[in-house]
Amino acid sequence: MTDRPTAVVTGASSGIGAATARALAKAGFHVVLGARRTDRLAEIAAEIDGTAVRLDVTDPESVAAFAAAVPGAKLLVNNAGGAKGLEPVAEADEDAWRWMYETNVIGTLRVTKALLPALLASGDGHIVTVTSIAALEPYDNGAGYTGAKHAQAMLHRTLRGELLGQPIRLTEILPGMVETEFSLVRFDGDAGKADNVYKGITPLTAGDVADVIAFAATRPSHVNLDQIVLKPRAQASGMRAYREG
Ligand code: NAP
Repeated sequence: MTDRPTAVVTGASSGIGAATARALAKAGFHVVLGARRTDRLAEIAAEIDGTAVRLDVTDPESVAAFAAAVPGAKLLVNNAGGAKGLEPVAEADEDAWRWMYETNVIGTLRVTKALLPALLASGDGHIVTVTSIAALEPYDNGAGYTGAKHAQAMLHRTLRGELLGQPIRLTEILPGMVETEFSLVRFDGDAGKADNVYKGITPLTAGDVADVIAFAATRPSHVNLDQIVLKPRAQASGMRAYREG
Protein backbone atom coordinates (compact mmCIF):
# COMPACT_ATOMS: atom_id res chain seq x y z
CA MET A 1 0.00 0.00 0.00
CA THR A 2 1.04 3.60 -0.50
CA ASP A 3 -0.17 6.94 0.83
CA ARG A 4 0.67 8.64 -2.44
CA PRO A 5 -2.32 9.57 -4.64
CA THR A 6 -2.74 7.19 -7.58
CA ALA A 7 -2.37 8.29 -11.19
CA VAL A 8 -3.24 5.94 -14.05
CA VAL A 9 -1.42 6.44 -17.34
CA THR A 10 -2.51 4.52 -20.44
CA GLY A 11 0.02 3.90 -23.21
CA ALA A 12 2.83 4.21 -20.67
CA SER A 13 5.24 1.83 -22.43
CA SER A 14 6.77 4.53 -24.65
CA GLY A 15 6.80 8.17 -25.72
CA ILE A 16 4.55 10.68 -23.98
CA GLY A 17 2.99 8.07 -21.67
CA ALA A 18 6.33 6.79 -20.36
CA ALA A 19 7.60 10.34 -19.82
CA THR A 20 4.33 11.29 -18.09
CA ALA A 21 4.58 8.30 -15.74
CA ARG A 22 8.09 9.47 -14.77
CA ALA A 23 7.01 13.13 -14.34
CA LEU A 24 3.98 12.20 -12.22
CA ALA A 25 6.06 9.93 -10.00
CA LYS A 26 8.44 12.84 -9.48
CA ALA A 27 5.45 15.02 -8.55
CA GLY A 28 4.50 12.54 -5.81
CA PHE A 29 2.00 10.18 -7.45
CA HIS A 30 1.91 6.41 -7.29
CA VAL A 31 1.61 5.62 -10.99
CA VAL A 32 -0.25 2.65 -12.45
CA LEU A 33 1.13 2.11 -15.96
CA GLY A 34 -0.98 0.41 -18.63
CA ALA A 35 -0.07 -0.80 -22.16
CA ARG A 36 0.32 -4.05 -24.09
CA ARG A 37 4.15 -4.31 -23.93
CA THR A 38 4.47 -5.42 -20.32
CA ASP A 39 8.27 -5.90 -20.39
CA ARG A 40 8.72 -2.17 -21.01
CA LEU A 41 6.05 -1.27 -18.48
CA ALA A 42 7.72 -3.36 -15.79
CA GLU A 43 11.06 -1.63 -16.38
CA ILE A 44 9.59 1.87 -16.04
CA ALA A 45 7.45 0.85 -13.06
CA ALA A 46 10.52 -0.49 -11.25
CA GLU A 47 12.39 2.75 -11.93
CA ILE A 48 9.62 4.96 -10.45
CA ASP A 49 8.22 2.63 -7.78
CA GLY A 50 4.99 2.32 -9.74
CA THR A 51 2.75 -0.57 -10.77
CA ALA A 52 2.65 -2.16 -14.24
CA VAL A 53 -0.61 -3.72 -15.41
CA ARG A 54 -1.23 -5.11 -18.90
CA LEU A 55 -3.84 -3.11 -20.81
CA ASP A 56 -5.26 -3.35 -24.31
CA VAL A 57 -7.74 -0.48 -24.62
CA THR A 58 -9.39 -2.17 -27.62
CA ASP A 59 -10.36 -5.21 -25.54
CA PRO A 60 -13.27 -4.82 -23.07
CA GLU A 61 -12.09 -7.75 -20.91
CA SER A 62 -8.59 -6.32 -20.67
CA VAL A 63 -9.96 -2.92 -19.62
CA ALA A 64 -12.23 -4.52 -16.99
CA ALA A 65 -9.31 -6.51 -15.54
CA PHE A 66 -7.12 -3.40 -15.59
CA ALA A 67 -9.72 -1.30 -13.76
CA ALA A 68 -10.18 -4.04 -11.17
CA ALA A 69 -6.43 -3.98 -10.49
CA VAL A 70 -6.39 -0.20 -9.88
CA PRO A 71 -6.62 0.43 -6.15
CA GLY A 72 -8.45 3.77 -6.51
CA ALA A 73 -7.51 6.68 -8.72
CA LYS A 74 -7.27 10.43 -8.43
CA LEU A 75 -5.84 11.07 -11.90
CA LEU A 76 -6.38 9.34 -15.24
CA VAL A 77 -4.20 10.22 -18.22
CA ASN A 78 -5.86 8.95 -21.40
CA ASN A 79 -2.76 8.79 -23.58
CA ALA A 80 -2.88 5.45 -25.44
CA GLY A 81 -3.41 6.11 -29.12
CA GLY A 82 -1.77 6.86 -32.39
CA ALA A 83 -2.06 7.00 -36.17
CA LYS A 84 -1.90 4.42 -38.96
CA GLY A 85 -1.07 5.58 -42.47
CA LEU A 86 -1.01 8.94 -44.23
CA GLU A 87 -2.96 8.85 -47.47
CA PRO A 88 -5.72 10.72 -49.27
CA VAL A 89 -9.32 9.84 -48.47
CA ALA A 90 -9.61 8.36 -51.98
CA GLU A 91 -7.07 5.71 -50.96
CA ALA A 92 -8.09 5.26 -47.32
CA ASP A 93 -7.49 1.88 -45.73
CA GLU A 94 -10.57 0.86 -43.72
CA ASP A 95 -8.61 -1.35 -41.34
CA ALA A 96 -6.26 1.52 -40.48
CA TRP A 97 -9.24 3.80 -39.84
CA ARG A 98 -10.84 1.10 -37.66
CA TRP A 99 -7.58 0.80 -35.66
CA MET A 100 -7.46 4.58 -35.10
CA TYR A 101 -11.09 4.81 -33.99
CA GLU A 102 -10.89 1.69 -31.79
CA THR A 103 -7.71 2.85 -30.06
CA ASN A 104 -8.12 6.63 -29.75
CA VAL A 105 -11.90 6.95 -29.43
CA ILE A 106 -13.48 3.75 -28.13
CA GLY A 107 -10.36 3.01 -26.06
CA THR A 108 -10.58 6.37 -24.31
CA LEU A 109 -14.33 5.90 -23.79
CA ARG A 110 -13.87 2.42 -22.33
CA VAL A 111 -11.08 3.33 -19.90
CA THR A 112 -12.81 6.55 -18.83
CA LYS A 113 -16.09 4.73 -18.10
CA ALA A 114 -14.29 2.02 -16.17
CA LEU A 115 -12.34 4.43 -13.95
CA LEU A 116 -14.89 7.24 -13.54
CA PRO A 117 -16.44 5.79 -10.34
CA ALA A 118 -13.02 5.61 -8.67
CA LEU A 119 -12.08 9.11 -9.83
CA LEU A 120 -15.32 10.53 -8.42
CA ALA A 121 -14.96 8.55 -5.20
CA SER A 122 -11.52 10.10 -4.65
CA GLY A 123 -13.32 13.38 -3.97
CA ASP A 124 -10.81 15.28 -6.15
CA GLY A 125 -10.46 13.51 -9.49
CA HIS A 126 -8.83 14.64 -12.72
CA ILE A 127 -9.01 13.31 -16.29
CA VAL A 128 -6.28 14.38 -18.70
CA THR A 129 -6.78 13.34 -22.32
CA VAL A 130 -3.99 13.60 -24.87
CA THR A 131 -5.68 14.49 -28.14
CA SER A 132 -3.60 16.45 -30.68
CA ILE A 133 -3.55 19.54 -32.85
CA ALA A 134 -5.19 17.02 -35.21
CA ALA A 135 -8.29 17.64 -33.04
CA LEU A 136 -8.32 21.30 -34.11
CA GLU A 137 -8.35 21.21 -37.92
CA PRO A 138 -7.93 18.86 -40.88
CA TYR A 139 -4.65 18.23 -42.71
CA ASP A 140 -4.22 16.61 -46.11
CA ASN A 141 -3.83 12.81 -46.05
CA GLY A 142 -4.68 12.72 -42.35
CA ALA A 143 -8.48 12.33 -42.27
CA GLY A 144 -8.45 8.99 -40.45
CA TYR A 145 -6.35 10.42 -37.63
CA THR A 146 -7.84 13.93 -37.52
CA GLY A 147 -11.32 12.38 -37.52
CA ALA A 148 -10.46 10.04 -34.65
CA LYS A 149 -8.78 12.82 -32.64
CA HIS A 150 -11.78 15.13 -33.18
CA ALA A 151 -14.08 12.36 -31.90
CA GLN A 152 -11.84 11.68 -28.90
CA ALA A 153 -11.79 15.42 -28.15
CA MET A 154 -15.60 15.64 -28.33
CA LEU A 155 -15.91 12.80 -25.83
CA HIS A 156 -13.54 14.60 -23.46
CA ARG A 157 -15.03 18.10 -23.95
CA THR A 158 -18.57 16.74 -23.50
CA LEU A 159 -17.59 15.23 -20.15
CA ARG A 160 -16.38 18.67 -19.02
CA GLY A 161 -20.01 19.82 -19.12
CA GLU A 162 -21.66 16.59 -18.01
CA LEU A 163 -19.53 16.41 -14.86
CA LEU A 164 -20.04 20.01 -13.74
CA GLY A 165 -20.80 20.03 -10.02
CA GLN A 166 -18.81 16.83 -9.46
CA PRO A 167 -15.35 16.85 -7.86
CA ILE A 168 -13.45 16.24 -11.06
CA ARG A 169 -11.26 18.32 -13.38
CA LEU A 170 -10.83 17.77 -17.12
CA THR A 171 -7.76 18.81 -19.10
CA GLU A 172 -7.19 18.26 -22.81
CA ILE A 173 -3.58 18.28 -24.03
CA LEU A 174 -3.16 19.09 -27.74
CA PRO A 175 0.44 18.56 -28.87
CA GLY A 176 1.90 19.29 -32.29
CA MET A 177 4.92 17.35 -33.51
CA VAL A 178 6.54 15.21 -30.78
CA GLU A 179 9.39 12.81 -31.55
CA THR A 180 8.33 9.42 -30.15
CA GLU A 181 7.49 6.04 -31.70
CA PHE A 182 4.37 7.71 -33.14
CA SER A 183 5.69 7.99 -36.72
CA LEU A 184 7.23 4.49 -36.64
CA VAL A 185 3.79 3.12 -35.76
CA ARG A 186 2.11 5.36 -38.36
CA PHE A 187 4.45 4.10 -41.11
CA ASP A 188 4.39 0.46 -39.99
CA GLY A 189 7.99 0.36 -38.73
CA ASP A 190 9.55 2.23 -41.70
CA ALA A 191 12.33 4.15 -39.88
CA GLY A 192 13.30 6.17 -42.99
CA LYS A 193 9.80 7.55 -43.41
CA ALA A 194 9.51 8.19 -39.66
CA ASP A 195 12.81 10.12 -39.55
CA ASN A 196 11.69 12.31 -42.47
CA VAL A 197 8.81 13.66 -40.39
CA TYR A 198 11.29 15.38 -38.06
CA LYS A 199 13.81 16.45 -40.73
CA GLY A 200 15.04 20.05 -40.44
CA ILE A 201 12.92 20.77 -37.38
CA THR A 202 13.40 20.54 -33.63
CA PRO A 203 10.28 18.68 -32.51
CA LEU A 204 8.88 18.57 -28.98
CA THR A 205 10.17 15.74 -26.81
CA ALA A 206 7.95 13.41 -24.83
CA GLY A 207 9.39 15.07 -21.72
CA ASP A 208 8.19 18.50 -22.89
CA VAL A 209 4.62 17.21 -23.03
CA ALA A 210 4.96 15.30 -19.74
CA ASP A 211 6.08 18.49 -17.96
CA VAL A 212 2.88 20.23 -19.08
CA ILE A 213 0.69 17.32 -17.96
CA ALA A 214 2.39 17.26 -14.54
CA PHE A 215 1.91 21.04 -14.25
CA ALA A 216 -1.83 20.74 -14.98
CA ALA A 217 -2.14 17.86 -12.51
CA THR A 218 -0.48 19.74 -9.67
CA ARG A 219 -2.58 22.95 -9.75
CA PRO A 220 -4.94 23.51 -6.80
CA SER A 221 -8.25 21.60 -7.04
CA HIS A 222 -10.29 24.67 -8.04
CA VAL A 223 -8.04 25.42 -11.05
CA ASN A 224 -9.06 23.61 -14.24
CA LEU A 225 -6.70 23.99 -17.20
CA ASP A 226 -9.20 23.14 -19.94
CA GLN A 227 -7.08 22.93 -23.09
CA ILE A 228 -3.36 23.24 -23.59
CA VAL A 229 -1.97 23.46 -27.14
CA LEU A 230 1.80 23.03 -27.44
CA LYS A 231 3.86 22.93 -30.61
CA PRO A 232 7.48 23.21 -31.67
CA ARG A 233 8.44 26.84 -32.37
CA ALA A 234 8.83 25.99 -36.07
CA GLN A 235 5.32 24.51 -36.43
CA ALA A 236 2.25 26.69 -37.01
CA SER A 237 -0.32 23.94 -37.72
CA GLY A 238 -0.68 20.37 -38.95
CA MET A 239 -0.05 21.70 -42.48
CA ARG A 240 2.58 24.41 -41.86
CA ALA A 241 6.08 24.03 -40.49
CA TYR A 242 9.41 25.71 -41.24
CA ARG A 243 12.25 23.30 -42.01
CA GLU A 244 15.97 24.13 -42.11
CA GLY A 245 17.96 23.10 -45.18
P1 NAP B 1 4.06 6.18 -29.02
O1 NAP B 1 5.47 6.34 -28.56
O2 NAP B 1 3.80 5.31 -30.21
O3 NAP B 1 3.17 5.70 -27.78
C1 NAP B 1 1.86 5.19 -27.95
C2 NAP B 1 1.47 4.43 -26.70
O4 NAP B 1 0.13 3.95 -26.86
C3 NAP B 1 2.35 3.21 -26.46
O5 NAP B 1 2.69 3.14 -25.09
C4 NAP B 1 1.46 2.04 -26.84
O6 NAP B 1 1.75 0.90 -26.01
C5 NAP B 1 0.09 2.60 -26.48
N1 NAP B 1 -0.99 1.87 -27.15
C6 NAP B 1 -1.22 1.75 -28.49
N2 NAP B 1 -2.27 0.94 -28.70
C7 NAP B 1 -2.69 0.53 -27.47
C8 NAP B 1 -3.72 -0.36 -27.03
N3 NAP B 1 -4.53 -0.98 -27.89
N4 NAP B 1 -3.87 -0.54 -25.70
C9 NAP B 1 -3.06 0.07 -24.81
N5 NAP B 1 -2.06 0.89 -25.17
C10 NAP B 1 -1.88 1.12 -26.48
O7 NAP B 1 3.44 7.61 -29.41
P2 NAP B 1 3.20 8.96 -28.55
O8 NAP B 1 3.56 10.07 -29.45
O9 NAP B 1 3.81 8.88 -27.20
O10 NAP B 1 1.60 8.93 -28.46
C11 NAP B 1 0.89 9.13 -27.25
C12 NAP B 1 -0.39 9.91 -27.54
O11 NAP B 1 -0.04 11.22 -28.01
C13 NAP B 1 -1.28 9.30 -28.62
O12 NAP B 1 -2.63 9.43 -28.23
C14 NAP B 1 -1.00 10.18 -29.84
O13 NAP B 1 -2.07 10.18 -30.75
C15 NAP B 1 -0.79 11.52 -29.16
N6 NAP B 1 -0.06 12.53 -29.93
C16 NAP B 1 1.19 12.29 -30.43
C17 NAP B 1 1.85 13.27 -31.16
C18 NAP B 1 3.22 13.06 -31.76
O14 NAP B 1 3.62 13.85 -32.65
N7 NAP B 1 3.99 12.09 -31.32
C19 NAP B 1 1.24 14.52 -31.37
C20 NAP B 1 -0.04 14.72 -30.84
C21 NAP B 1 -0.68 13.75 -30.11
P3 NAP B 1 1.77 -0.65 -26.46
O15 NAP B 1 2.10 -0.68 -27.93
O16 NAP B 1 2.82 -1.24 -25.57
O17 NAP B 1 0.38 -1.13 -26.14
